[in-house]
Amino acid sequence: MLHVGVLALQGGVSEHLELLATLPQVQPIAIKKPKQLRGLDGLILPGGESTTIGKLLHEFELVEPILELAKLGIPLWGTCAGLILLAKQIVGESSNHLGLMDITVQRNAYGSQLASFITYENIVALSDPPIQLVFIRAPIITEYGSKVKPWIYVKDKLVAATQANILVTAFHPELTTDQRFHQYFIDMIKRN
Ligand code: GLN
Repeated sequence: MLHVGVLALQGGVSEHLELLATLPQVQPIAIKKPKQLRGLDGLILPGGESTTIGKLLHEFELVEPILELAKLGIPLWGTCAGLILLAKQIVGESSNHLGLMDITVQRNAYGSQLASFITYENIVALSDPPIQLVFIRAPIITEYGSKVKPWIYVKDKLVAATQANILVTAFHPELTTDQRFHQYFIDMIKRN
């Protein structure tokens, strides 16, 4: 059984837990306390409001334990606000949250008209058919370091990437019924 945590401070927590529960051999766990991180095989940082989740990470004393988890090489996946939490740099902001991934991100990057949209894309490394990508006031990756592997571009913007055991997606696979991104993360965990 793989124990996969979902950071449960704010945002789209239950959707991730429910989707994980549909995968074989996966035990989803809602994470609110540092001690729950012990023994995890992977951790998802969900979408929501990154400023709020960032504050709560400090209040719940989860920053250091998550950095420790990353040091151990435990796979992390940030979706939307989760991507922002993992970024080393946030455009227009002087500090970061966890700063684990060598990317610069711009929040709410698609502007007001396109603030939320759905698109279907063929994704390298995922099986057919095209997959639904749901964007909600999504960030984009504007710059990245040499250890980062860019993965998915939408409207010429980088919206998914990996760096060693870290995966980030600017969109919300948990708001669909398609399991392929969650399975991809589980496969990262299995390879670990
Ligand atoms: N706009 C949000 C932020 O900047 C992220 C949106 C989301 O997670 N759906 O934190």
